[in-house]
Amino acid sequence: MAAAVLAKWGALLADVIIIAAVTRLLGLLTAGGAAPDELALTLAVCALAALLRAFCGLRAEKAAFAVQTGVKKQLREKLYAHLIRLGPDYGESIGTAEILQIATEGVDQLEIYFGRYLPQFFYSIAAPLTLFGVMAPIDLRAAAVLLICAPLIPAVLTLIGRLAGKMAGRQWDSYISLGDRFLENIQGMTTLKVYGADGGRQEEMAGEAESFRRSTMRLLRMQLSTLILMDIVAFGGAALGVAAAAMAYEAGRVSMAAALALVLLAAEYFIPLRQLGSYFHVAMNGVSAGERMFQFLSREAPPDGEAAPPDGPLDIEIRDLSFRYPGGDRDTLTGADLSVPAGTLTALAGPSGCGKSTLAALLSGQRRDYTGSAAAGGRELSHIARDDLRRRVTLVSHDAYVFTGTVADNLRLARPEATETEMTEALRAVRLWDFLQEAGGLTTALSERGANLSGGQRQRLCIARALLRDSAVYIFDEATSNIDTESEEAIMNVARRLAETKTVLLISHRLANLTACARIYLLADGRVAERGTHAELLAREGVYAQLYNEQMLLENYGKRGVRP
Ligand code: ATP
Repeated sequence: MAAAVLAKWGALLADVIIIAAVTRLLGLLTAGGAAPDELALTLAVCALAALLRAFCGLRAEKAAFAVQTGVKKQLREKLYAHLIRLGPDYGESIGTAEILQIATEGVDQLEIYFGRYLPQFFYSIAAPLTLFGVMAPIDLRAAAVLLICAPLIPAVLTLIGRLAGKMAGRQWDSYISLGDRFLENIQGMTTLKVYGADGGRQEEMAGEAESFRRSTMRLLRMQLSTLILMDIVAFGGAALGVAAAAMAYEAGRVSMAAALALVLLAAEYFIPLRQLGSYFHVAMNGVSAGERMFQFLSREAPPDGEAAPPDGPLDIEIRDLSFRYPGGDRDTLTGADLSVPAGTLTALAGPSGCGKSTLAALLSGQRRDYTGSAAAGGRELSHIARDDLRRRVTLVSHDAYVFTGTVADNLRLARPEATETEMTEALRAVRLWDFLQEAGGLTTALSERGANLSGGQRQRLCIARALLRDSAVYIFDEATSNIDTESEEAIMNVARRLAETKTVLLISHRLANLTACARIYLLADGRVAERGTHAELLAREGVYAQLYNEQMLLENYGKRGVRP
């Protein structure tokens, strides 16, 4: 930025040199003629100054460009790194559409703020002071008139800034909410189509877009009219300077040539300030985006632990575990106690909303602000470094993400160095290889979210990916929900086999899947209400037995004339 300001200032000096050389020559001519070598000297000085000006102009552009690209790169890197640090719960502080808009358009506008507006701002202070220094020896009064007028533009800018800042802020907010709505509608397109609500949504979007267009036009109108106001001040100031120069000449204080120099310098005087005004509004838009960006960047990432989990199998012990979501009005987990030892299949069941997924999120390190104790291999989870915990604990949920690319690309997310044989083995284990072999093997192309696979195939691919991870702990959170029985069976087989050597917690609302588990915990109201094997829990005739019997009735409904 300093280089940009310095280069601009150099260009101004070149202008001053040209004005001085030309008016000096005119002075000599009007005073009775100049020698031919004076003309040559003036031409040479002007040519050199023009070269200096061109060079400085180029340097100023290059420096501004360097600031702009630097700002862009740094801000985007910072935003991305912060998103990664915050992890999946970034959404608690910012919407997905907003972060996209901030990282694209917001950064573009801020780039102008840093690359154009700020250097121009500093130059606009340096230029009038420099010109005052040049003009004062010629005529102090004319120089003083201009110096007094110079702060008028910053004063007008500050005034406009108050008004425009608020307007630009509101404009940015409505732009963000339009973006949010647009993204949501696109993501929920299938649902909107299914319920025939797409037409209504389209009209709503069109209405919002129209009101956004109107408010954009209002903002532009305001910005253009303030530019006119600034021009009036700038040209008015320059006119005053010209008048002061003419009066100085009239009064005989300066020669004709000196008066001409004052007139030309007066014209130069307000150019930097006018230019500042033209960058001002884009900069104001950038400031609105910047406020949200810096708010997001200042949101602290949850503290990370430092301990490493012990090597080898990990037993999980949970004692008196409680947890409340930020801003929630009651605890989701209220003193849960359970053990998930390595080498046995453990299950967690319970009515909808009782906190099963919350417990899975705590065990996989996605959330750490719990009270009580949750330890893996004797180490408290909140003390274990997040990356280490992720390496040792794999959470497989029902909505795991499949990325655009090949099957191999998706599998290698879990283990970049996985060989083709290892990947094929993992796909065989989930009974997906036969299908994929025909479709194109490991290089089969997958579209966004794996849309060209069936729900069951997609889920089996995610399980194969998890297998490649080869972690000590696996948590299957409703990994078999909403899929066909063949896929369900394949996944259950994998879970059973994994449980022979690893720590496996199976969360499933379908209790028929849990009958073979060594221990089952039934969660109700955030705590373990019942525990035991399937047979023990049935014999208890408690909540588990009731849920199981209800499910059996529903599943057998109509099969043998059974009615719930
Ligand atoms: P299901 O079987 O329906 O998946 P669950 O037992 O897995 O239910 P959780 O997803 O753990 O239940 O949710 C437990 C409670 O916590 C619910 O009442 C839910 O409203 C609340 N909850 C879940 N996620 C959040 C969140 N991100 N912010 C605030 N509250 C949440």
